[in-house]
Amino acid sequence: MSEISEKFAVLKSGTPRLRNTSAAERCARMKSLWDATVERKDDLFKAAHKERGTHDLDMAAELVMLKSEVDYMCKNLAKWMKPEKVKNSLATMGKRCEIRRQSKGVVLNMAAYNAPTAESFVPMLASIAAGNAMAIKPSELAPDSAQIIQEIVNKVFPADEAEVFQGGVEVAQELLAQPFDHIYYTGGTAVGKIVMKAAANNLASVTLEMGGKNPVIIDETAKLENAAAKLAWGRVMNAGQVCIAPDYAIVHESVKEEFQTLISEKINALYNSDGAGLDKSPYVPRIINERHTARVKSLIEDAKAKGATLVSGGNANIENNYVEPTIITDVTEDMDIMQEEVFGPVLAVVGYKNREDVLKHIAPRTNSLALYIYSTNDDNIEYFLSNTSSGSAVVNNNCIQSGTNPNLPFGGVGNSGMGRIGGYEGFRTMSNERSIVHQPLDKFRDFLIQLPPYSDRYSNIIMKAIKK
Ligand code: NAD
Repeated sequence: MSEISEKFAVLKSGTPRLRNTSAAERCARMKSLWDATVERKDDLFKAAHKERGTHDLDMAAELVMLKSEVDYMCKNLAKWMKPEKVKNSLATMGKRCEIRRQSKGVVLNMAAYNAPTAESFVPMLASIAAGNAMAIKPSELAPDSAQIIQEIVNKVFPADEAEVFQGGVEVAQELLAQPFDHIYYTGGTAVGKIVMKAAANNLASVTLEMGGKNPVIIDETAKLENAAAKLAWGRVMNAGQVCIAPDYAIVHESVKEEFQTLISEKINALYNSDGAGLDKSPYVPRIINERHTARVKSLIEDAKAKGATLVSGGNANIENNYVEPTIITDVTEDMDIMQEEVFGPVLAVVGYKNREDVLKHIAPRTNSLALYIYSTNDDNIEYFLSNTSSGSAVVNNNCIQSGTNPNLPFGGVGNSGMGRIGGYEGFRTMSNERSIVHQPLDKFRDFLIQLPPYSDRYSNIIMKAIKK
């Protein structure tokens, strides 16, 4: 037996006990996780700064997501765990019908590198709320964060409740071979498909939180300066390594030039206010490693070589994992930048003349994780919302739909994923929704009419039910 399967067996052994824990006990675990995380906040700040050049306040904002999730879940968990009585139908008349949300068992949580703490612990909170044990596989690309995450988990949880497995693809593959009851995956679409195939071997349910190219639509009525400021922030945040980041902008031709100038000015005003240079700004983070820096740089180079026009930025320093915030326009479908998720601080711009063309631009990349609309025309807003599909959408802002309101479930659709997290939906994702029917045994309610040989009365009821 390998070390991973031995640890999996220990996690499995904890599940009967965890299944029967009370809301108060689960809430105590969530609070302990929060306390232990906050105790290590300075170390988490240092790790995020080393890995991604993250400003302490940006890392603190990642932790705020955890705190609000703990508070919301603890407030509501007892209510969610209560069996939910449901109404009867004609066929269940006289019986008692209810839904119980019970734990699934052991959940595997595989995380990406761009927000290691939130990606490890937000799903973990939902898993604890539902009474599961959890194995976390943080990304190997953020090893300092992964080490702290492991130390926090080891401090708070016994080995039959939670375990952290550090490592790369080999560790991930060995974990995926274990018969987990649910797999929660955050990462790219290509690996998401591997995860789903592996889950099929054990018929584990899956939540896939993936990425893609999130379009921004800016129509001729948009408040351009306001849009430019918000998009500068949305695109430079975490150096563009955000799953819901605005990836490319489809801008009405009549305002395209002005928008490009405004967003370039805003980047400078927000991130280079002292004039020392964007590369010196404490607010401009770094790309996770040289490989990804070179990848983002090559997206810019490829677009330029195929005829795109650089509006601002465009420089990169691979040894320093730095990509200058960049606006590049007149991109076309044959460019790599329109084919891959950028996951860097580069906004590609394309123009449109009528709103039907916007749908044509989006069509090859449909089902994004997010979609953003900047407009003051209600008819246009409704048109774009009704004729597109995405996991979430925001009108006249960006990046404010995740981790901000536990009443808004978060997740993707199609290429960008499946399943939801956040608040009650996170609890549901990690629970088995069990339908239960209680049959009273008195002669008035336990009439056994459906048993053969069929009576005329039964035949009449059934035949009447299928009448046109
Ligand atoms: P990735 O797919 O490379 O890695 C994710 C996880 O999968 C890691 O833990 C990694 O070790 C593991 N992995 C990698 N290759 C594997 C393989 N062959 N077999 C099994 N496991 C493997 O993703 P990434 O580069 O770390 O993250 C970036 C992606 O994550 C982007 O596409 C981004 O949009 C997406 N993302 C999505 C969300 C969301 O909530 N929807 C959040 C953050 C990031």
